[in-house]
Amino acid sequence: MTSDPRRNLPSVDAILVALPGLPVSGPERTLAAEAAREVLGEARKSALAEARPSLQELASRTRMVIERRLAPSLVRVVNASGVILQTNLGRAPLGRAALEAMAEAGAYSNLEFDLGTGMRGSRHEHLRDMIRRATGAEDGLVANNNAAALFMVLQVFGQGREVIVSRGQAVEIGGGFRIPDVLRQSGARLVEVGTTNRTYASDYEAAITADTAAILRVHTSNFQVVGFTAEPTVGELVEVARQRGVLLIDDLGSGCLVETRAYGLAHEPTVQESLSAGSDLALFSGDKLLGGPQSGIIAGRSELVAELRRHPLARALRVDKLTIAALNATLMQYVLGRQDSAIPVWEMLRREPASLRRRARRWARSAGERGVVVRSRTMVGGGSLPGQGVETWCAAITHADGADGLARRLRERQAPVIGRIENGAVLLDPRTVEPADDRLVDEAVSAVLSDSGG
Ligand SMILES: *Cc1c(COP(=O)(O)O)cnc(C)c1O
Repeated sequence: MTSDPRRNLPSVDAILVALPGLPVSGPERTLAAEAAREVLGEARKSALAEARPSLQELASRTRMVIERRLAPSLVRVVNASGVILQTNLGRAPLGRAALEAMAEAGAYSNLEFDLGTGMRGSRHEHLRDMIRRATGAEDGLVANNNAAALFMVLQVFGQGREVIVSRGQAVEIGGGFRIPDVLRQSGARLVEVGTTNRTYASDYEAAITADTAAILRVHTSNFQVVGFTAEPTVGELVEVARQRGVLLIDDLGSGCLVETRAYGLAHEPTVQESLSAGSDLALFSGDKLLGGPQSGIIAGRSELVAELRRHPLARALRVDKLTIAALNATLMQYVLGRQDSAIPVWEMLRREPASLRRRARRWARSAGERGVVVRSRTMVGGGSLPGQGVETWCAAITHADGADGLARRLRERQAPVIGRIENGAVLLDPRTVEPADDRLVDEAVSAVLSDSGG
């Protein structure tokens, strides 16, 4: 009988000696020792069942554990899911101008420094002009996201007073973000009017009291109410609000600056429409249809924006220099009319079916007999334009282990490829993939199918 194989495993020190280039002390060595202990623990558990691993084998397992631990948690993925604003994948992908602006501003910058006078400046100054030009607003301010923007606006103008919301708009936006909760948290009192499917301007009018601060209109971004429905237009609400001396706050959600019908989609309310109809403040996200960084933009009347800017919450919810740089560069593309080529969201929507079909065919071919080309739809996603999409072509790929197994293998690649599962196949949509990344999809598909005899 041989002795217990667990006794014959090398020591932690022996493994560390087998890792060339490891410093003799310090945090890197501590990390390596921790990894080696972990690997030895695993080896001990399985030593009775399997052959005793060699020192080299243990050292290489230790190196893998170290590498995994030091790898960045946030990595780039290839979004072949066919959802343009995929919340789980970071919503809007930034355009080149925005990425370059971030790299530039990441060093020292004139964030709060007036280069003309050499005196202290304000970070809020950087975006004012661009917001005005892009939206037609008198003034603008930016918070961390649209939820923060809404919270700030409600607290500054609604605290201790009443804010009127249609029952059809007291909605949950996603991730547990519910309009009635935000209202309550801000210290405003919610007054609901109308019904889930029909609310009239007269309902708002009847609810206004001496305590009313504002009417809040919320764009129902992530669902549709169809059939017997009615909602007053912004213009009608503006009339009620003006007559009775209350504010009209319009939470647009997506912050669209262009006519979506030109892209084959339904009409999404634009910021310009809301402001020119007379809403006092329009609120919208920077990273939905706008196609910029995560942020919440407040555009509207200058005295209201000035009051927000002076409030302590503007400090608590302020954006970072990287966001300012990226948002400025994004808005600039709209001001110059270049969104179709410079903002990925619109560029993707503009892609030609013929070239999408060619790309899908190439990916399908990488899967051999397991791949076919199918017609499908790219969805806008991200709580914008519910149910709206445009026609596309996808590679539909199957695997002996089923679609879940195939999707997992594609995800586990060093450059993860994210598809979506439909009818037992993984669909890969070229519309949401940069053509420069096509090679990564080709390689992933062929590797995954050849590995496992798919
Ligand atoms: C998405 C959305 C929000 C939240 O915006 P974030 O930028 O994600 O914080 C608020 N209101 C509406 C109507 C939305 O669609």
